Amino acid sequence: MIEVAAIKKGTVIDHIAAGQGLWIFNKLNLGQLGHPVVLLMNVPSKRLGKKDIIKIENYTDVDTAMLGLIGSSITVNIIENEHVVDKVPVFIPDEVRGLFSCGNPRCVTNSDAYVIPLFHLHDARSLAYVCEYCEEITKVAWK
Ligand SMILES: [Zn+2]
Repeated sequence: MIEVAAIKKGTVIDHIAAGQGLWIFNKLNLGQLGHPVVLLMNVPSKRLGKKDIIKIENYTDVDTAMLGLIGSSITVNIIENEHVVDKVPVFIPDEVRGLFSCGNPRCVTNSDAYVIPLFHLHDARSLAYVCEYCEEITKVAWK
């Protein structure tokens, strides 16, 4: 097992399904933050078998709406002085702004770059969202 030093202050995104860590890293633009970031892949886990973990030093403002859409197993721990001081709940968001695009090709959000897509949760089990602009239902499907 690779030993990785605990971070003093920052965020640990834990219980990421194995294989999704790099994808989340890219989706949340963690490489652009300018903070030290560690991505651990295929770490043995009692709950998941294998999991990925992301540790971000000196940064706590992660997009939990995005994480909730990616996986309900994900946990977000806020670290201060090497201890977990807060666990941020990750849940499927009721409202989503700009994280994915509308499935309707004629929707204004797909033709006008200045209109940020806005969706309201339609069905949590299938991750189906209704578009604010055209009322088309889009299912969030990560590849
Ligand atoms: Zn739409």
